[in-house]
Amino acid sequence: MSSPMSIKDRLAEVRQRITRAAERASRDPAEITLVAVTKSAGPEQIRELLHLGVTDLGESRVQPLAQRAAQINEYHARRLASGDQTIVPRVRWHMIGHLQRNKLKQATSAMHILHSLDTLRLADELEAHLEKTQAKSNTPVKLPVLVQVNAAEEPQKYGVAVGAVSHLAEQIATMKHVVVAGLMCMAPHGADEKTARFVFGRVREIFDEMKFRKVAGPSFKHLSMGMSDDFEFAISEGSTMIRVGSAITGATESTEEDEE
Ligand SMILES: *Cc1c(COP(=O)(O)O)cnc(C)c1O
Repeated sequence: MSSPMSIKDRLAEVRQRITRAAERASRDPAEITLVAVTKSAGPEQIRELLHLGVTDLGESRVQPLAQRAAQINEYHARRLASGDQTIVPRVRWHMIGHLQRNKLKQATSAMHILHSLDTLRLADELEAHLEKTQAKSNTPVKLPVLVQVNAAEEPQKYGVAVGAVSHLAEQIATMKHVVVAGLMCMAPHGADEKTARFVFGRVREIFDEMKFRKVAGPSFKHLSMGMSDDFEFAISEGSTMIRVGSAITGATESTEEDEE
């Protein structure tokens, strides 16, 4: 069951929570990008978000990402062409879930940024695929990726071990098409405030240290941390991108990390 509140009200509430959390941390709320996670939203809800100023949409599985991006982008282009002033000028798709190498081509044609880069092998295959894409299109092709950190050191979870993050980023930084744009992490499911803050704080330290040592280039600037239940903690620990699903859509399904 979804709650009786409208998506408009829920979005307004989330934005208010972001503003308050930013103020408490003496941060500018404009530094924090809201990625609306649409995996349990209907197409009408997604279209409505585009009329409420939401520019960044996230999906955790490749199939729905590709389908939705195709549908929604078509709608978006149509509204823009008809001179609709109420729709956002652009839409960016974020692939936030685990990406299997055999779905990489499908994902690459739909996503603008990948939050879950977790192996050198995946980066190598993305690079090779983007090289081919560029050869065909004759225009520069770049894909921003965030290295997913398994900061809670949960054995069954995706992500790179804390001690290996910097080295992986250095290797990716030598690539032409795959661009290391920051780090991503998730607090353990159901984590209490102390645990969530510990995990976010740890990833923030790694992020700052990597920026200080200039491990990657100037594009290394995003810290994707925080979901419906913990984004205030993430904002106070320095998050620049939050991935919020159920608090916006009203869905109550489990938000466990998806597997492709
Ligand atoms: C589903 C999902 C989210 C959003 O979760 P909510 O609790 O619904 O806000 C964020 N990040 C990832 C990786 C997800 O799979």
